[in-house]
Amino acid sequence: MGTGKLSVNEIKIKNRQMIYQHIRSHGPVSKQDIVVALQLSLPTVTQNLEYLKEQGLIDDSQRIKNTGGRNATAYTYIKSFKKAIGVYISAHHMNVVALDLSGSVLGRMRKRVRFDLEDDGYLRDMGEEVKKIKKETGIKDEDLLGVGISVPGLVSKDGSYVTYGLTLGFTGKTRDEIAKYIPYKSRLFHDSYAAGHIVAWHNNKVRNAFYISLSNSIGGAIIMGNEICGGDDCKSGELGHMTVIPEGGERCYCGKYGCLDTVCKTEKLDGYTGGNLEEFFRRLKEGDDIAVKLWDEYLDNLSLAIHNMRIIFDVDIILGGYLGMYLGDYMDDLRERVDAKNPFGDKAEDYLYVSEYEGEECSAGAAIFFVEEFMDGI
Ligand SMILES: [Zn+2]
Repeated sequence: MGTGKLSVNEIKIKNRQMIYQHIRSHGPVSKQDIVVALQLSLPTVTQNLEYLKEQGLIDDSQRIKNTGGRNATAYTYIKSFKKAIGVYISAHHMNVVALDLSGSVLGRMRKRVRFDLEDDGYLRDMGEEVKKIKKETGIKDEDLLGVGISVPGLVSKDGSYVTYGLTLGFTGKTRDEIAKYIPYKSRLFHDSYAAGHIVAWHNNKVRNAFYISLSNSIGGAIIMGNEICGGDDCKSGELGHMTVIPEGGERCYCGKYGCLDTVCKTEKLDGYTGGNLEEFFRRLKEGDDIAVKLWDEYLDNLSLAIHNMRIIFDVDIILGGYLGMYLGDYMDDLRERVDAKNPFGDKAEDYLYVSEYEGEECSAGAAIFFVEEFMDGI
C-alpha cells in the first residue's frame, strides 16, 4: 500500500463495484450502456454481469425497447436482495424502520415510550419491536444485514458504546447492553450523524452540507463529499452546544449556560402545548398570541444558528428532525431572517431547505450504514 497503485485483484473488485453502482443508479441499462459509461472492455463487463447475476444481485429478465434492431437485455439491481433495520430511541419515543437496498421504507413503527435503559422491560420491548417489524416485512434471517440503533448521544467510532449521553444519562452504555434482546448484528449510532447520513445518501446531489436536527435536543452533522465528517473524536457538528446567549442564558442539560439547545429545542414551542408539537402549530395558525411570540423568538434564534453555519462552512444547510415536517409554511420567513444577517449577499433560498427524506431520518440512517457496508463488500 502507499504506492497508489491497485493490485489486479483490487482493480477487479473496483470494476465489479462500479458496474453494480452504475446499474443501481442508472438502471435499467444495457451492456453497451455500461461499456460506454464506464469505459470498460466488453469482456470485463460481461464477466462481471455474470458474476453479479450468479450472486442474485441483478436481474436480466427484461428487455430495453430499441427503435430498430434487436432489443437489448436490460440490467437492473434487485432491491430486495438484502434488508436492514434501524431503531431510534429518544426521550419519549421508539421508532423502528426496515429498509431495502434502495433505502425505501418497507415497514415502520413509532410509539410513545419513556427512554429507560435501566429497565429490562424497555430493552425487551425494543427487541420485540425489531422482531415484529422483521416478521411483518418478511425479512429472513439470512437477508438481514444488521440492526442500527440511533441514540441521542455521542458514540464511539466503532459503534460499540456511548461516549456522551448526558441528555438522558446513559454515558458509557454499551451496544451489548442496549441491544440485549436484539439477536442480530447491531451497532450504535449518534442520531444526528445517522440523520445526516441518510439525507446525503438519499439525495446524491448533496455533496457538501450542514445538517441541523431540530427535535427535543439540537444536533448537527457535517457532510463533506457526501460523507459524514465526524472530526477527530466523533463529536463535530454539535451546534446545540454553541453559546448563543453569553449572559443570563438558561442552563443546558450539558451543564453550561446559554447553549443553542436551550433556545432551539422543540420544548421551547411544545412546552406551551403540553408536549404536543402539532397542537402548537395549530394554535400558531390560529394566530394565538403566545404561540406567535414563541415562534418569532424561535425563528430568530434558529436563523442565527443557520447563519453561523453558513458563514463557517459555505455549504447547503438542511433542516430536519421532528420540527422539519412543520417548517414548510414558514421557510420564507426563516430565509428572510437568515438573509438579513448575511454580509455576502448569499440568498438562503439557494442553500437552505428542509430534508426531503420522508421522516424517520435517525432510524433509517442507522439502517443505511449496513446497506452501504454491504455495497462496499460486493
Ligand atoms: Zn449545552
